Amino acid sequence: MSNSAGMEGTRKVSSSHLTRPLARGAGAGPSRAPGGASGVRAGSTRSGRQPGDGKTGSRPAAGSPGGLDTPAQYVKGVGPRRAADLARLGVTTVGDLLRHLPRRHEDRSRLKPIAMVLPDTVETVKGRVLAVTESRPRRGLTITKVSIGDGTATLQGVWFNQPFIKKNLRAGETVVFSGRVERHFGHLQMNGPEYEVLDGADPLNAGRIVPVYRATEGLSQRYLRAVIKGAADAYAGLMPEALPAELRQRLGLLPAPAAWRAIHFPADEAELDAARRRLAFEELFLLQLGLGLVKQHVRRREPGFRHGPDGDLVRRFLAALPFRLTAAQERVVREIKADMESPHPMNRLVQGDVGSGKTVVAALALLKAVESGAQGAMMAPTEILAEQHYLRLRRLLEPLGVGVALLTGGQGREERQAALFGLSAGHLQVAIGTHALIQEGVAFKRLSLVITDEQHRFGVRQRALLQEKGTAGGIHPDVLVMTATPIPRTLALTLFGDLDVSVIDELPPGRRPLTTRWLSEKDRGKAYGFVREQVRAGRQAYVICPLVEESDAIDARAAIEWAARLEKALPEFRVGVLHGRLKAAEKEAVMDAFQRGEVQILVATTVVEVGVDVPNATVIVIEGADRFGLAQLHQLRGRVGRGEHPSYCLLIADPSSEDGRSRMAVMTRTADGFAIAEEDLQLRGPGEFFGTRQHGLPDLLVANPVRDLPILEEARQEAFALLEADPSLARPEHAVLRQAVRDRFRGRLALIGVG
Ligand code: ADP
Ligand code: MG
Repeated sequence: MSNSAGMEGTRKVSSSHLTRPLARGAGAGPSRAPGGASGVRAGSTRSGRQPGDGKTGSRPAAGSPGGLDTPAQYVKGVGPRRAADLARLGVTTVGDLLRHLPRRHEDRSRLKPIAMVLPDTVETVKGRVLAVTESRPRRGLTITKVSIGDGTATLQGVWFNQPFIKKNLRAGETVVFSGRVERHFGHLQMNGPEYEVLDGADPLNAGRIVPVYRATEGLSQRYLRAVIKGAADAYAGLMPEALPAELRQRLGLLPAPAAWRAIHFPADEAELDAARRRLAFEELFLLQLGLGLVKQHVRRREPGFRHGPDGDLVRRFLAALPFRLTAAQERVVREIKADMESPHPMNRLVQGDVGSGKTVVAALALLKAVESGAQGAMMAPTEILAEQHYLRLRRLLEPLGVGVALLTGGQGREERQAALFGLSAGHLQVAIGTHALIQEGVAFKRLSLVITDEQHRFGVRQRALLQEKGTAGGIHPDVLVMTATPIPRTLALTLFGDLDVSVIDELPPGRRPLTTRWLSEKDRGKAYGFVREQVRAGRQAYVICPLVEESDAIDARAAIEWAARLEKALPEFRVGVLHGRLKAAEKEAVMDAFQRGEVQILVATTVVEVGVDVPNATVIVIEGADRFGLAQLHQLRGRVGRGEHPSYCLLIADPSSEDGRSRMAVMTRTADGFAIAEEDLQLRGPGEFFGTRQHGLPDLLVANPVRDLPILEEARQEAFALLEADPSLARPEHAVLRQAVRDRFRGRLALIGVG
């Protein structure tokens, strides 16, 4: 294989696919493959057989590669075995390969003369291989040393137990090493440097800005680079151009194929930035378009329900409250009132930290619906939360003569029949439930308000489905979305771009500070000593059991065992246990007993995460705290600090990971939900933080709504302007765009006739 062929293969991007099979043929024999294939050699594939050899014949013709759906297996260097490894990364097609983005890049392009390198610094140098030696100082240890020189000095690369290195790096070749420099008995040395043979082909691993991928067992970085480079060269040109040309030019955005190539193998820093900007913009633009379509659809539909002004019901409710609304609650209630009294459908998100008093706000909105002769529904993400909302709202609303129904999957037939009948006949005015609310057979007489308590678990689709329940009577109900996990306002726009946003940014007065401590398991005795003190002083306590698995049954067993241990250890107290496996009536009985103070220590699984409200409870012990995420810990902690006494959260954990330690540190440092949300976002990244999949929103691969906030704002503006001009993306020049939005939301827009 001549170098010139290798050069051709990389220079002329579109024809590289053509030259590769030749390179592969050469690589399989004793002679060596050029450039792009060098990474493949580093893996176990050096045995002489290249994976995928058997597939050569069935690959798409080089000149006309198949589409982006072509199985990854047919990319050069990938065979059935490697395809299985790739599948573990979620990569099955060439399109997936291209979308397998680097986690980061390393700049290995700044070459230094060897004489200038600094010890203890990561440097990149270029030189000729002067000598390759191998030694076996003892059994099971092979040391390969490759010394290189560039005329200014020499440097040695050292590898342990990687005998194949000597096949990849041979005397006389020009190579690039990148790694941490050490001084070893007067020699300059790099331990296992990244390396690249400069044979005329595009370098992949050093001597350039190098992508670093999320890898998996069996797939080295070198291998991934080689394969993804092959895929990018052959297929990036097929990545669809969703952005209208006019927009791209006006904003100076790279064309899609160039961006997809450069996001992996940028020529320089500037090109990497441009690629990132382009792809982040596209993601956020499509997201905002989808949300814009939803929003517009809601606005455009039949007029909404025009609720009447506040009347006697609302006044009596407010008069009976044992407290005054906070200024923040007042403001949010005013915003909701204005929306509800307007003839347009309301679509509003209410955000408020744990304990900020969202329930009262929800109750007021429900009353307003009832007062106008209509009905309201509130949907919660879990059965226990629905039950808790039900109990609390019933306590608030029934004294005013408002009939409240509960609808969950787990309830008995008779109870359900009664609820269904009451709702369709209209003598029950408020329905609280899980997604059982949106099932067929649930009909309302006159539904005018839909509240979803999202806790980040519902999506656009469920919300829309519940809304549909109200359209039968020709009215479009008002929608209120509540979320307890505070999200910075701008991020809320990304997530809930179809909604207006209200924030309850104030806690009710008189809240005592909450102290959080992190204890090691060996100090557990101290924690329970403190619990004993508190309960003796008349307070109550929660104990949250370690999260064993995502299994109700196993977690329930853990809670029961934990409660038994506590009963033995603290025999003077009454211990209750609450878990997801209890029947609704049993849960209600336990919660009521805790509420009344009959149960002093409540051992629970995360079912108490949200909604339980017992102001006399002042301490919460969270066992195995490192098993929980930050948002969840914050919600759990929110069970205490609701009354007049100082409260305490005791985290028991011996985290084995850096990440776990960070979470414990964040929890002890701040009790502010917004600060925690920001930290959470930092630790987990936006994808996981938002759990976008559960939201019904597309994943963000490139964009980080925090870092890319300016891009988000630009994308939002452009998306809404575009919809203004072409409300359903019907113009021919928007055909690809329309399709891209549809693909992104994968059918989730079908509901509103776009998907
Ligand atoms: P959230 O649902 O936002 O976590 P809740 O609605 O459960 O918060 O309210 C937390 C606690 O604060 C409840 O005990 C509630 O009765 C009380 N509360 C709500 N609003 C006020 C207020 N304005 N003043 C005093 N206490 C309030
Ligand atoms: Mg309205």
